[in-house]
Amino acid sequence: LMGQMMSQPLLISSIIRHADRYFGNAEIVSRRVEGDIHRYTYRDCHKRARQIANALGGFGVKMGERVATLAWNGYRHMELYYAISGSGAVMHTINPRLHAEQIAYIVNHAEDQYLFFDLTFLPLVEVFAAHCKTVKGFVLMCDKERMPAISRIPNLLCYEDLIANNSDQYEWPLFDENSASSLCYTSGTTGNPKGALYSHRSTVLHSLASVMPDVFNLSARDAVLPVVPMFHVNAWGLPYSVPMVGAKMVFPGPALDGKSVYELFEQEKVSFSAGVPTVWLGLLNHVAQNNLEFSSFKRTVIGGSACPPGMMKTFRHQYGVEVVHAWGMTEMSPLGTACTLQAHHLDLSDDQQQSILEKQGHAVFGVDMKIVDDDGSELPWDGKTYGNLLVKGPWIIGSYFKSESGDVLEHGWFPTGDVATITEDGYMQITDRSKDVIKSGGEWIGSIDLENIAMTHPAVQQAACIGVFHPKWDERPMLVVVKKPDAEVSKEELIKFYEGKIAKWWTPDDVAFVDALPLGATGKVLKNKMREQFHGYKLP
Ligand code: ADP
Repeated sequence: LMGQMMSQPLLISSIIRHADRYFGNAEIVSRRVEGDIHRYTYRDCHKRARQIANALGGFGVKMGERVATLAWNGYRHMELYYAISGSGAVMHTINPRLHAEQIAYIVNHAEDQYLFFDLTFLPLVEVFAAHCKTVKGFVLMCDKERMPAISRIPNLLCYEDLIANNSDQYEWPLFDENSASSLCYTSGTTGNPKGALYSHRSTVLHSLASVMPDVFNLSARDAVLPVVPMFHVNAWGLPYSVPMVGAKMVFPGPALDGKSVYELFEQEKVSFSAGVPTVWLGLLNHVAQNNLEFSSFKRTVIGGSACPPGMMKTFRHQYGVEVVHAWGMTEMSPLGTACTLQAHHLDLSDDQQQSILEKQGHAVFGVDMKIVDDDGSELPWDGKTYGNLLVKGPWIIGSYFKSESGDVLEHGWFPTGDVATITEDGYMQITDRSKDVIKSGGEWIGSIDLENIAMTHPAVQQAACIGVFHPKWDERPMLVVVKKPDAEVSKEELIKFYEGKIAKWWTPDDVAFVDALPLGATGKVLKNKMREQFHGYKLP
């Protein structure tokens, strides 16, 4: 017996249409590449998205064809999210922090038909445009006045001309909800980048799940500033979930330094934000150095790499900002887990609560997870046993875009490449990425624990731990530290700092001080680069 409800496909266009009809006057505020602040409403955004959809139709872009963007978080980028996917084409966001050759590889692999880009990236696009085999036109996201008089880029078009020359009369087409909507490539720290191809259905379900109270907890009373870029796993879905609930959207553009972000937080009364730990360092330093406070900021989601406990404590205790530690990956749209307390935790001491909140959290409804040993046998949920983390769910990939190896699943589960423990009540904690685990005498040492401890030392700004060759133990942990400005600490002090905090044999054998850690295109520490740097290093 079948249910008798309407059959209505879950399509991305329905989100912007809903935002227009029910939250039409809610604002989208953007700090532009041009330097000024731009503001308009969801209604305006929807209108301009329809104009761009007509422009794409005029270009002859067909259902399923890829259209790329190289852009910061801003209103024009948001219009493209809806115009491209809504019209049935595939929104392909490219990370501009990649090398020009990598970008050209990705554009050719995706067979992008058009490429839209921000003014900032004009010099970058000039470098690789000639190598793009499938791109029929490049659209500069600016007005006529800012278009370059001459350029090496073939068929260079102006975004605001497209808006001016196209009607806003456009009906979003209806099609199968399983159609491809958007494409993100992983940063490819090993080998060529791989594409995760999302669908309308997976995107809408992911948005619905992400706004729940124990996840992002978003509502029409929030003002949301996504620090996580729209070119990194669709800014964790915020360009969909924020209009879905009718919250105000605040886009920071290219200005991601502490001062600029703080100003926008205060001016626009931002209540919620999300980003990787490294971006919060800049903001917290700025706020501390200038003795500032947050007047509206209430909640932040931190993920992408482990949130250092010290950072979480500073947010919670010093500024009264709730931190939701979240875990996910490009292949998971990206949301997998979020960490919030349950009713029976409310009577615990603050320290006990903090130690729960530092974990990556419980699975969001829709996602299931398990840990297994190297033979694939399931391991117990006791908070101690660690194993390879596998996941499944309707917004997790089954295979990579145009991949020759086909299905990547292990008996229907996606292997995340992370190593984790899970407690009895379902709280998952990442101990490491499997390729970063330090293997000492056949036993595993989780680098995240060692880093988190180092980062609670008052003189430590950032720390990363890698395995370095050891003749007896194969590998031993080595700590690499960036000191806080004007702070001093010795190697010996830091090694002593581990005493009583961790099993003795986990203690790093050595400490190196550096000016900066190598960061990848998404702001994460590049451990493979660090391992190269310390290749052949002789431990004491
Ligand atoms: P990549 O960095 O490979 O481009 P992602 O941005 O998709 O891709 O990163 C996913 C990986 O980031 C996860 O597999 C995990 O190793 C790491 N990660 C994400 N969130 C967290 C977190 N909260 N704590 C620890 N590691 C995390």
